[in-house]
Amino acid sequence: MIGGMQDFALRISSIMDHAANEHGARGVVSRYADGQIERSNWAEIRHDSRRFAQAMERLGVKPGDRVATLAMNHGRHVVSWYGAIGMSAVLHTINPRLFDEQIVFIANHAEDQVLFYDAAFAAIVERLKPQFTTIRHFVCLDDNGQCSDDATYAALLAAEDGNYVWTTGDERDPCMLCYTSGTTGDPKGVLFSHRSTVLHALAGIQPACLGLGPDSCILPVVPQFHVCAWGIPFAAAIAGAKLVLSATNDPASMCELMRAEKVTHSAAVPTVWLGMLAYADETGITPPPLEKVVIGGSAAPRALVDRLMNMGISVSHLWGMTELSPIGTVSRKGHDFASMSREDQLDLLAYQGGVPYGVEMRIVDADGAALPRDGATSGRLQVRGPWVIERYFRDESGPAVDADNWFDTGDVAIITPEGVMQIKDRVKDVIKSGGEWISSVTLENEALGCAGVAEAAAIGLPHPKWDERPILIVVRKDGADVQEADVLAHLSARVAKWWLPDRIVFADSLPHTATGKLLKTALRETYGTISLSA
Ligand code: ADP
Repeated sequence: MIGGMQDFALRISSIMDHAANEHGARGVVSRYADGQIERSNWAEIRHDSRRFAQAMERLGVKPGDRVATLAMNHGRHVVSWYGAIGMSAVLHTINPRLFDEQIVFIANHAEDQVLFYDAAFAAIVERLKPQFTTIRHFVCLDDNGQCSDDATYAALLAAEDGNYVWTTGDERDPCMLCYTSGTTGDPKGVLFSHRSTVLHALAGIQPACLGLGPDSCILPVVPQFHVCAWGIPFAAAIAGAKLVLSATNDPASMCELMRAEKVTHSAAVPTVWLGMLAYADETGITPPPLEKVVIGGSAAPRALVDRLMNMGISVSHLWGMTELSPIGTVSRKGHDFASMSREDQLDLLAYQGGVPYGVEMRIVDADGAALPRDGATSGRLQVRGPWVIERYFRDESGPAVDADNWFDTGDVAIITPEGVMQIKDRVKDVIKSGGEWISSVTLENEALGCAGVAEAAAIGLPHPKWDERPILIVVRKDGADVQEADVLAHLSARVAKWWLPDRIVFADSLPHTATGKLLKTALRETYGTISLSA
């Protein structure tokens, strides 16, 4: 057929050019670990990214080579992303909170060539240097505090003029690499393409998702090493939003920075928001009146959503995973949301939400047969779409999807007839009692609504009669005296009788993964010896 549209490659560099050309003066503000504030904007970020790309070429980095970062959130980290990707390298974010062995495994598996690190992580670098087999250059992102002999970012860029033209190529070329947390087995690499990343960022700015525009100012508390800060450094650039980044994410500095920079939007895992509210209770210093916050990574507890809404903040719940870049579903607030009662609103927000255009989802039974969207039947959640994984990085064992491209998320969910999904549990965490399933997530979230409970984790323990029964491990709030009977009374009003934990154990703290999730494997080890009787 004669006639048609342009074959315009969806490359990350086009995002950078858009931000610099159309929203060049819009700020990119960073607070570094030493408290210093650095004011930049999208035009300057592009200039620095071009210098970064030149520096990579000077160091001999070739298209497709992996350039790694071990860094918190700040402008230099963003520059390293756009700069490395702009010269066709693959930017690999490493989570500094992983164990040494995992960091070494990941860097060697990725065959990283260059490592950029924050001075705060210099000790990790110094310690692990002898075990990194492929890294040729180590560069400190801070001006001081680098390991001996290492270059600094400032010195590296000082030698470049920024007179650089982005490399071109296929939109299906890889651009970023991110490893799953690996709570079971070795971490697995997810290799994002330019195309998947651009489409994902476009989906991210929609009103029903992050809701970003040129008048927005977003502070992603979620670290850049946690699934690329959920794509926010790309989404903000597309929207022309102001981007505020902080290398520290304690509640005090978050509240202060949000106020000072007039932040309107933010995104973080539930534990961050719980920490901010605990800080508010202690000090009277509350987060400023944000327009919108997005909570994801773990289920958002109802009591948390309620409190944020009482502060006048619009809350959205997001479900996703590394294999989904990460956005999978986000709260589906319909036209009647504002007129709903608060209880109904909270019920809706307890669901993980609906898919944006670009993600398809379904639930299946153990044999892979599709299950109904009736809001009651639960099954394994599967997804597919242009920003969903096809195969793990360097995985010789084959695709991660079935013949129809469905990726099994490992989550158990229900879907309502309206297409709203709720995560019931992870397949491996669900508690199987007498042939029925008890959702550990529901028990935990309901327990959090009980006065005096700071945190709770439910695990299944072997039981002679029921196969498995739940126990709940509870951390009390400072100074609280909540007892087993209080928690049980609270839960009795909210869950079926046979869901009530057989035992409630109090602990000083709970183990978490490097991305803030409850570490159920460790809990099973610690509490697995408790014996439950028939
Ligand atoms: P991470 O790096 O955050 O650990 P993963 O890809 O390992 O990322 O984790 C993804 C898993 O986190 C999902 O499969 C799901 O079980 C859980 N998860 C993410 N968001 C939510 C949410 N909003 N509610 C419940 N569980 C969630």
